[in-house]
Amino acid sequence: MSRKQQTLKSSVRFEGIGLHTGEKSTIEVHPASEDTGLVFLTRYQGKERAIPYTVDYITDTRNNITVSDGVVSYKTVEHMMGALYGLGIDNAILEFTGPEMPIMDGSAAPFVEAFLKAGVVTQHSEKKVLRLMESLWVTKDDKFLVGVPFYALKINYTISFPNSPIGTQTFQLNMTEEDAFSSIAQARTFGFLEDIDYYQKNGLVLGGGFDNVHVYSRKENRSINGARYDDEPVRHKVLDLLGALALLPYDIEGFLVSYKGGHTLDVDFARLLSHYAEKQKEEAKIFTEGYSYQVSGLLHLEPRVAHLAS
Ligand SMILES: [Zn+2]
Repeated sequence: MSRKQQTLKSSVRFEGIGLHTGEKSTIEVHPASEDTGLVFLTRYQGKERAIPYTVDYITDTRNNITVSDGVVSYKTVEHMMGALYGLGIDNAILEFTGPEMPIMDGSAAPFVEAFLKAGVVTQHSEKKVLRLMESLWVTKDDKFLVGVPFYALKINYTISFPNSPIGTQTFQLNMTEEDAFSSIAQARTFGFLEDIDYYQKNGLVLGGGFDNVHVYSRKENRSINGARYDDEPVRHKVLDLLGALALLPYDIEGFLVSYKGGHTLDVDFARLLSHYAEKQKEEAKIFTEGYSYQVSGLLHLEPRVAHLAS
């Protein structure tokens, strides 16, 4: 069975600094009518500009996902979009100021907590389901992201950082399982202490710090500020992937396997799915009924204490 579309009960406001720019931003997430989708909104030179969160408006995927209409842009939207996708919030207006989404604590948890506090309401229209009927994949060098037919959304993700405390990690997320999304919501973005100089010389991670990035040291072969999960990095990558799947106006039914993926492959895969959906529509094969996963109402977050390494 497919499910009904959902939106927020009331507006939620966030403010903070961006991870890469270090600049202040505010974002208010408002309820929206059915079939609105997720739409960014801002004011520029006295005029309102709307930027739908769809594959056509993604202009940068190198170190974050950036939305832009060619005039204004907004960086590092993936964690909030992952939270919305994970909670099944389909319709929202995201009104922002500044150049980049507040990074908060580097995870999706602050967004999730605020959205759940505001409340999620069911609307009348069905959420469309895109079921993979064949295998689709994107590759680059030794990386790939493949989707194969499956009755629900399941993700298997592997990352590999040899010669580091992260090493090789695999995490599997089955969205049909109770509390599935809460197993990744608190996973923070991560980086290496030894790379900070390089990043900052290139104008990146200017807002990064121990309070919003899980920092590892290659030299010391350890986490500097404490892991929330032993495999926190790969869990975070799954969150990033959900942020890219939110680009599509569908619940996805397929088994996705990502090996050493990232924002670029994630968004390339979303583009491929978007193209595939159009093709399916033409062939009248799009499925709006069938198995679907239930996420709303099943999620609870247990506070986890970061164990600070001494
Ligand atoms: Zn991320």
